[in-house]
Amino acid sequence: MTVETFDPGNDTPKAVQPNTTHATKVAPAMGQGRGTGTRIGFISLGCPKNLVDSERILTQLRTEGYDVVNSYDGADLVIVNTCGFIDSAVQESLDTIGEALNENGKVLVTGCLGAKEDEIREVHPKVLGITGPHAYEMVLEQVHNHLPKPEHDPLTALIPDHGVKLTPRHYAYLKISEGCNNRCTFCIIPALRGDLVSRPIGEVLDEAKRLKEAGVKELLVISQDTSAYGLDVKHKTGFWNGMPVKTRMTELCEKLAEMGIWVRLHYVYPYPHVDEVIPMMAEGKILPYLDIPFQHASPKVLKAMKRPGKAERTLEQIKKWREICPDLVIRSTFIVGFPGETEEDFQLLLDWLEQAQLDRVGCFKYSPVEGAVANDLAELIDDEIMEDRYQRFMAVAARISAERLQARVGTEMRVIVDELNDEGAVARAYSDAPEIDGKVILGGEFDVEVGQMVWASIEFANEYDLYATIVRDDNDEIEDLG
Ligand code: SF4
Repeated sequence: MTVETFDPGNDTPKAVQPNTTHATKVAPAMGQGRGTGTRIGFISLGCPKNLVDSERILTQLRTEGYDVVNSYDGADLVIVNTCGFIDSAVQESLDTIGEALNENGKVLVTGCLGAKEDEIREVHPKVLGITGPHAYEMVLEQVHNHLPKPEHDPLTALIPDHGVKLTPRHYAYLKISEGCNNRCTFCIIPALRGDLVSRPIGEVLDEAKRLKEAGVKELLVISQDTSAYGLDVKHKTGFWNGMPVKTRMTELCEKLAEMGIWVRLHYVYPYPHVDEVIPMMAEGKILPYLDIPFQHASPKVLKAMKRPGKAERTLEQIKKWREICPDLVIRSTFIVGFPGETEEDFQLLLDWLEQAQLDRVGCFKYSPVEGAVANDLAELIDDEIMEDRYQRFMAVAARISAERLQARVGTEMRVIVDELNDEGAVARAYSDAPEIDGKVILGGEFDVEVGQMVWASIEFANEYDLYATIVRDDNDEIEDLG
C-alpha cells in the first residue's frame, strides 16, 4: 500500500512525474523485532519527516524491548503514524486506521492527523489513543498504558547506534528541525506541527556521523524549512567534537561536507543566504542539488500565498547560482489553481518556468485543506480550469525536463545503485533524490550491489529518466560529480 500525500508544509518533494505525489510507505511493521514477545505492528504514512518520526518511535520501542512484527495478526497493538494534509491523505489515514481496527482492534494513532483528534474519533471512536506529530514520548506513554514495558532483555543491545532505520542502508533522512515559523496561506503545517524548533547542531552532527559509520552514503537533510535552521535559537553557537559551530544552515553544511558522503538539501526556502551554500556545491563538498519550492511566480499570487520572492529576483538568483555552479540541479514544486489565480497569473508562471529552466518540477492542483487561510481569500478555481492549467504546466515542465536530460546523453555520471532487478539495476545520480525524482536505469551485464557507487555512461534519456551502462567502479569520494 502506498499513500499519496500533498505535504506543502514540507513543500512536498514530488518531482517530475505528473500525478504522483510524495508517497511513503507502509507496512504493518517492519520486521525489525526480535524482542520479548510483546509485539507491536507499525504503519508509517506520509512524508520523509513522518518517516523519521516513525524511526524514532520504533527505535525507542525496540530499545525498551518491544518486538516489532509485520502482521496485524501477530501484533498485540498497532500504531498508525498518519499524514493529515490534503483530503486524500486524510482519507487514506482514516482508511488505514479502519483497516488496523478491523484486523487487529487495538490501535494507537499518531502523526499529523492526530492533531485533529475529533475528526478521527468521529469516524473511529474505538481508537485507544491519539497523539499529534513528533510526540514520541506521549506515544510511548500510551503504549506503556496498554502494553506494560517488557522485562529488560539483552537482545535490545542488538539495536544499532543509529537506531531503527526505515530507508535502505545506503541513504538516510537527517531531520534538523521541527515546525515552521512561516505562515504560507495554503498550509496548515504550522498549526499541526507548531513553530520552528531546531535540533541542537551537535546532536544533528552526531546523528550524521553515526549514520555514516553505519554505512550510509547519502544524507538527505530535511525539515519544514531547512534554510531557517537555527533562527529560533538566534543561531547560537553549539559544540561538536569539542569545536564551536553555529546553529545555522551554512555551518551545518560545512560540517556535513567534511564527512565525505553525499549531502542533499531538501525544503530550502528561498532566503538570500541560500547563496552561501552554492560555492560549497561548486566545490563538490555537498551535492549541487537544491530542492527549493517556489510555489508560483506571479507576484500577486505569491503575495496571497505569503511566500517570499519576487519572481524576477529569483530568476536573477538562479542565473547567479548557475554561473557559480554550472552543475546545479534545481527541483521545485508549484501550486496551480490557487484561489484568485487568473489566466494572466498562470501565464506568468508558465513564462517564468520557461526562463528558469528548472530540472525537476512537481505541480499540485490547489487543495482547499480545512483550516487553510487561502480558502477564504478568493473564490476557489473551477476544477476544469485547474485541471487544464495543471496539464499545461506539466507539459512545459516535462519538455524542459526532457531537454535538460537530453543534454546529459554522452556524458558520464557517478551513480548510486538503489535496487537490482531482472533487467539490471536502478540507480540515481546526484541530480535525483530517492523516491521523488528520476532514475538512472543501468542495462547490460555487471556485478554491482545495492548502495554501490559506479560511473555510468548515459546513452539515452526520456522525459524523466536516464538510461546508461556502467563504465567503471568507484567507491571513493564525491568529487567530479558531472
Ligand atoms: S508554512 Fe512553513 S511548512 Fe507550510 S508551506 Fe510555508 S514554509 Fe512550508
